[in-house]
Amino acid sequence: MQETTSRVPLSFEFFPPKTPEGVEKLRLVRQQLYALKPEFCSVTFGAGGSTQEGTFNTVRDILAEGVSAASHFSCVGATRATVRTQLATLKAMGVTRLVALRGDLPSGYGAGGEFHYASDLVAFIRAETGEDFHIEVAAYPEVHPQAKSPASDLQAFAAKVKAGANSAITQYFYNADAYFRFVEEVDALGLNIPVVPGIMPITSSTQLMRFSDACGAEIPRWIRLRLQSFGDDVASIKAFGLEVVTDLCEQLRAGGAPGLHFYSMNQSVATLEICRKLGL
Ligand code: FAD
Repeated sequence: MQETTSRVPLSFEFFPPKTPEGVEKLRLVRQQLYALKPEFCSVTFGAGGSTQEGTFNTVRDILAEGVSAASHFSCVGATRATVRTQLATLKAMGVTRLVALRGDLPSGYGAGGEFHYASDLVAFIRAETGEDFHIEVAAYPEVHPQAKSPASDLQAFAAKVKAGANSAITQYFYNADAYFRFVEEVDALGLNIPVVPGIMPITSSTQLMRFSDACGAEIPRWIRLRLQSFGDDVASIKAFGLEVVTDLCEQLRAGGAPGLHFYSMNQSVATLEICRKLGL
């Protein structure tokens, strides 16, 4: 009884490895994480289809291991014809879950393509494939960096839900209040969709700063200063990161978050330690 009440659905995100060694390493990482019985594992998709083969291969591997797999799917630069073909491939592979995104093309690439926003992609997937896929979309409790305003970003999120999204995964954040406020706003719009917080374990100071600057996730000043003060002391960074992220997850669970989605970065240790501390 106690076990079921404390259970929170978990999911893990991977990126497609670029080398045969990376593929083997990720296989081991997955086996370690499967001990936590994830609802599903998802695999990122390079904007413009740059990782399509690696993404689909990793998704195939996960399905072959008997675990539900979600393929991320970005539409920037894509045409209806290419998306239609990719959807048919995913369906034939047995995929039933997608994370539908706009994606970001590297600077220097013209956007082009026939889709402007993720909401266009969600609407297209629904029109083409009906209810064949469970569609996840991205959410930004701290506001997407290109949004005109927080209100317009919320409207953009609502458009994805109205186009047919079933649930959402957030960009990572370290401020639980931003998440709870966002969920309140989503509920106030009557959107009635689970918004699962995305969790980024902290294992390296420079990597975290680099990612966060790029995706607009805020690192609170007190966390930034503490991380900087550890310098190259990796053990202290990891110990501090474990404490901070476990505490965040506890707040999220206590506040009713419908699941936890871990950005694993193709590593198992930090996620396993956080989940162990959470008693999962
Ligand atoms: P959208 O929802 O389309 O929003 C993009 C911007 O456009 C926002 O600023 C929004 O406010 C604005 N907007 C939307 N609709 C309108 C409108 N009608 N009028 C005006 N403005 C509008 N990227 C990848 O390349 N591959 C991945 O696998 C990947 N996985 C991700 C997984 C998660 C859980 C998250 C949170 C992000 C992921 N990303 C990935 C990053 C994502 O592609 C970028 O954040 C991208 O900039 C936005 O994608 P989106 O789907 O949120 O876009």
